[in-house]
Amino acid sequence: MHEDGFSQALSKRGVSRRDFLKFCTTMAATLALPASFIPKIAEALEKKKKPVAVWLEFSGCTGDTESILRATKPTIAEIVLDVISLEYHETIMAPAGKAAEKSKKDVVKDLKGKYIAIVEGAIPMKDGGMYCTIDGHSALEIAREVCGNALATLAVGSCASWGGVASAAPNPTGCVGVKEAVPKATVVNLPGCPVNAENITATIVHFLTFGTLPALDSHLRPLFGYGKRIHDNCERRMHFDAGQFVRKWGDEGHRLGWCLYDLGCKGPEAYYNCPTVKYNEGTSWPVQAGHPCFACAANNNWDVMGPIYSRLPYVVGAGYQLMADKIGLGLVAAAGAGIVTHAIVKEIKTRGIKQTNETEEQKAERRIDNAEDRD
Ligand code: SF4
Repeated sequence: MHEDGFSQALSKRGVSRRDFLKFCTTMAATLALPASFIPKIAEALEKKKKPVAVWLEFSGCTGDTESILRATKPTIAEIVLDVISLEYHETIMAPAGKAAEKSKKDVVKDLKGKYIAIVEGAIPMKDGGMYCTIDGHSALEIAREVCGNALATLAVGSCASWGGVASAAPNPTGCVGVKEAVPKATVVNLPGCPVNAENITATIVHFLTFGTLPALDSHLRPLFGYGKRIHDNCERRMHFDAGQFVRKWGDEGHRLGWCLYDLGCKGPEAYYNCPTVKYNEGTSWPVQAGHPCFACAANNNWDVMGPIYSRLPYVVGAGYQLMADKIGLGLVAAAGAGIVTHAIVKEIKTRGIKQTNETEEQKAERRIDNAEDRD
């Protein structure tokens, strides 16, 4: 990329100067930077040499590639393709076979320590890594070579970050994330199922603007994207606080946009910028669409967060489940004593009086419904 060619390159893709500045504004917001950083971001994107990237696809569903390609005009994908020089991406690249493999090898040989590796999908470790092979080499061998020699590796999506659904018990192929497979690699985890494309772009933009990777948490996730709890930014939170819970799919509460906690929402235990950045360029996110969050960005969510549609597990000793079920409200404790106590008190206040008017037969029916839902 020539330093003075950025605007022309964007223009050729139908992205106007105005769209570009809007993109820089979105990036500043995603990175939780004040508006004063917008010119600095724009300058970095216009003037800095774009980094070469190699995108590897291992044991996954290609959902992360879909995430970055599924966008409306002007696409983040279009802009990001001008921000990085994508030399290898099995799913979308034109070359195939030996020619494609040569592109990858050339990058590793000629740009050792200078390129960015982007990995999608988990890495099977069992039986020598034989469950995912490309051009006769296991994903493990390829990851060691490509990620081990990269400036940095972005593990995009939950599978590349910590193994994802492929690593759920009993994990028959021994899938792990990149950092576990290649401990010496410098890895930034961008979990999500799929990854949010804006978080990939923001990480690269941060690198171009400041010359460093963004600050990470203990799971190697950027704080800008994974530092805040979903529950605290959820548009249904007012209904949680008011004790208004969806009890069944399609019931009145569901139609009115009430809280999905009782249907198994893991938002109180999940950290991700899903509610603020959303997907498909800010169109929607699962909870907005009426589906409980299943904590896709949390390590081992399939094993530790319970079934998708089960309420968060009982907190031993808290005794709230007994209390909630006893009064027939269908609440359980798990998200922390403060939250649950608050919710139960609210529930009692807002629904308790109404329920005293039920006949014994109606009460019995409701208990059966609740029990069936829990099963
Ligand atoms: S429990 Fe889920 S739906 Fe309810 S407020 Fe929290 S994140 Fe939103």
